[in-house]
Amino acid sequence: MNERAVHAMRDFLEALGLDLTRDGMERTPQRVAEMYEMLFDGVGKGTEDIWGETFAVESAAEGLIAVRHIPFYSMCEHHLVPFFGEVHLVYLPSPGGVAGFGKFARLVDRIAHRPQLQERMTAQIAEAIEQGLRAEGVLVMTEARQLCMMMRKDAAQETCTVTNAVLGRFRENTGLREQAMEMLLQGLT
Ligand code: ZN
Repeated sequence: MNERAVHAMRDFLEALGLDLTRDGMERTPQRVAEMYEMLFDGVGKGTEDIWGETFAVESAAEGLIAVRHIPFYSMCEHHLVPFFGEVHLVYLPSPGGVAGFGKFARLVDRIAHRPQLQERMTAQIAEAIEQGLRAEGVLVMTEARQLCMMMRKDAAQETCTVTNAVLGRFRENTGLREQAMEMLLQGLT
């Protein structure tokens, strides 16, 4: 138990006028502190340990690999309110640089569990794939709902924000990038 965080949370909630002596809220500072430790457990951690064993593509075909609909939950660093949605990615592997699909979910989770901005989260995911797998091209698209926007009184509901990051050969080679984008958008609506 992080006593310092618990005390600080108690002070914070009381400063907002909340009555922590009433039923159900006595342990709220502890619960919030524990919850936030989990939400920020990606702070100060790299992503190199995630990949483990990588393997080669079987065929000689220059195959792009897509992983779609990876759910994520992150916290906006400006308000510490969640934003969440899905990450879709396409990469062009280096020889022997293919990772199991489950690794990408772990990667997204690690990077999402930091105070974030959607744009930076998207870029960090792309960079981690480029560096960790030595991927020759990476395209990452993130679709998110930002609660700090949606919960405001004048909020535009149903707003979905989309960010992209493009690295490596997808940057230079328009044909390849279009192919990657098409693959990414297949099945997305
Ligand atoms: Zn925010």
